[in-house]
Amino acid sequence: MALEIAPGSRIPIDVLAREIGVSQTPVREALTRLEREGLVRKEHLIGYSAAPQWTRKQFEDLYAFRLLLEPEGARLAAQNMTPTALRDLEAVAADMEHGEGPVDRTTRYSRFARADAHFHDEILKIAGNEVIRSTLSGQHVHLHIFRLMFNTRVTQEALEEHESLLDAFRAGDPRAAMDAMREHVERSRDRLLMAFE
Ligand SMILES: [Zn+2]
Repeated sequence: MALEIAPGSRIPIDVLAREIGVSQTPVREALTRLEREGLVRKEHLIGYSAAPQWTRKQFEDLYAFRLLLEPEGARLAAQNMTPTALRDLEAVAADMEHGEGPVDRTTRYSRFARADAHFHDEILKIAGNEVIRSTLSGQHVHLHIFRLMFNTRVTQEALEEHESLLDAFRAGDPRAAMDAMREHVERSRDRLLMAFE
């Protein structure tokens, strides 16, 4: 996540196991898990390596995909919204703004990225379409955004956009929720495109 192992570089299991002082089995298991999350890659006869950073094409494809699913997810969530679900969602949003004092830039961004992932997932949970939710979560969007942005500017502009989404949910307006989510994902895409310049 923190790019200490450079994207694309090899991760030899034996070296890693020796460094950590454990046998190869837990290291192998951990790498298998990371492979599922898209953080490492396994190649036949070569072994594991740190996943390369997203290319601009991958990034744009993924955002096109988000734009297909997330506005619809927000629309469904607005339809299904209950006072309890809204309260929970507001708590998740508040977590992004406040929380504990940031230790440093990295911790702050990591917390922000995780909280944002949680906020988006919570909306899809309320939307109630498990296919949409699991398909999106399988892409580990926020994890890759975190890696991509690790060495660049931290942005919290998203908070205002989340607030307009919450307004639409409070008003029980599916159309407005859909529009607010579309705008949020589009703006997020435009902000992150900087990483490729
Ligand atoms: Zn967001």
